[in-house]
Amino acid sequence: MHINEFQTMMRQIYFHHDSKRGAKRTFLWLVEEVEELGEAIKGKDKKALENEVADALAWLASLANVVNIDLEKAAMAKYDHKCPKCKQIPCECTRSFQP
Ligand SMILES: [Zn+2]
Repeated sequence: MHINEFQTMMRQIYFHHDSKRGAKRTFLWLVEEVEELGEAIKGKDKKALENEVADALAWLASLANVVNIDLEKAAMAKYDHKCPKCKQIPCECTRSFQP
């Protein structure tokens, strides 16, 4: 399954809810799911972590649907098989991604 197929599936399942909720409130749901993902990272429950990764992706797809952005097209336009900053594979940036 491609990202755009997943986004289409999310649209078919949830767009009637997502479109009523709107971008700002859908974004808040995404933030909440990312926070839950952050909590799941602290634990050792792999299944819980999988669930939270899935939820974060689902809410990102919902948000993309609400704002009418093709997630796969946008991602590939920026990350077209290389780092968008240094244009290398793997990334050779020395400062941007350090903790
Ligand atoms: Zn780079």
